[in-house]
Amino acid sequence: MKKTDVIIIGAGPVGLFAVHQLGIKGLKAVVIDNLDKVGGQCIELYPDKPIYDIPAVPECTGEQLTTRLLEQIKPFNTELFLNERVDEVKQEKDNWFVKTNNKNEFTAPNIIIAGGVGSFEPRKISLKEAEKLEGKSVFYAVKNKEHFQNKKISIFGGGDSALDWALELSKYSKITLIHRRNEFRGAQNTLSELRKLEKEGRVSIKTPCQIVSLDNEKELRSINIKFDDGKTEKIQTDVILGFFGLIMKLGPIAEWGLNMDKKTIEVNSENFETNKKGIFAAGDICSYPGKLKLILSGFHEVALASVECFKRARPDEKYRFEFTTSSKKIHDRLGKK
Ligand SMILES: Cc1cc2nc3c(=O)[nH]c(=O)nc-3n(C[C@H](O)[C@H](O)[C@H](O)COP(=O)(O)OP(=O)(O)OC[C@H]3O[C@@H](n4cnc5c(N)ncnc54)[C@H](O)[C@@H]3O)c2cc1C
Repeated sequence: MKKTDVIIIGAGPVGLFAVHQLGIKGLKAVVIDNLDKVGGQCIELYPDKPIYDIPAVPECTGEQLTTRLLEQIKPFNTELFLNERVDEVKQEKDNWFVKTNNKNEFTAPNIIIAGGVGSFEPRKISLKEAEKLEGKSVFYAVKNKEHFQNKKISIFGGGDSALDWALELSKYSKITLIHRRNEFRGAQNTLSELRKLEKEGRVSIKTPCQIVSLDNEKELRSINIKFDDGKTEKIQTDVILGFFGLIMKLGPIAEWGLNMDKKTIEVNSENFETNKKGIFAAGDICSYPGKLKLILSGFHEVALASVECFKRARPDEKYRFEFTTSSKKIHDRLGKK
């Protein structure tokens, strides 16, 4: 079980800036996110789009903002737990206990929920057999490339993830790329590479078609796909990799006994505490009169929540407001002379 001062749920821009606000006050944090990367909506939904309303940054993309936030929190060496969804939150005396879907456990006097619009989860194949084989021969992400070597792999999807992995895994495995449309959304140069491999007989591309069933006894042997013209085809397959996009699910957050307003968590706008002492919510997930779903609002919210976190984590110390420009303590924490 990992002990810390604050458990931050969500590594979007607000969760990342929370690390900074806690760090300059001398508090330790861990950050947990369901995605395989940090940045939340900025990185998942609009990495290349320009943002024009971050104070003193006239223009930056979602990806650039994420990179800068990571740079800003580097001095704090904060542990990030990615690919982990927080499923359980329980009270244990004065502390909170958190458990993830990977059975990792954390305890702290404070939790900041910066969960945005909920956890991003992969859209899945809606067939019972696929559900049973998930994690064995049906996957929605590549966590370990070695599991995908010397296999017959059917990759589904038309975006960059499907194209990139089809190209990469074709080095070690036999790939069939399957998409429900004739047009692919992913990078056209990757598609051209794949078309070349198709001509050489090293990759097979099937469109416009969808999966209709899986043949498995003990393990997956083949899948059946149906084309838009009604024809069907059996494809020898050991492994399915599906990239059908992401859906956002509030998921477990709704079950932690917090006062909710539709899909957001009610907080007071003095310190962004929820109805549970020591659980704070900030960013898109919180609601209070006048709330604006903007990144800059989230930054303000975690600045105030971090003061209350300090009071709970260091009950014997008095909180003293300090400017970053002039505080020797803050300079030390940031590794500045
Ligand atoms: C297309 C688009 C353009 C935008 N443009 C702007 C703009 O120009 N300016 C602006 O200010 N805002 C803009 N926004 C809004 C901005 O992106 C959001 O306000 C911001 O991302 C909110 O940050 P957040 O950290 O609160 O949540 P998010 O960015 O949503 O991050 C939340 C994270 O929490 C994780 N999470 C949730 N539940 C769990 C759980 N149980 N366990 C583990 N992890 C969990 C999620 O996986 C996610 O990574 C835009 C949004 C979109 C979609």
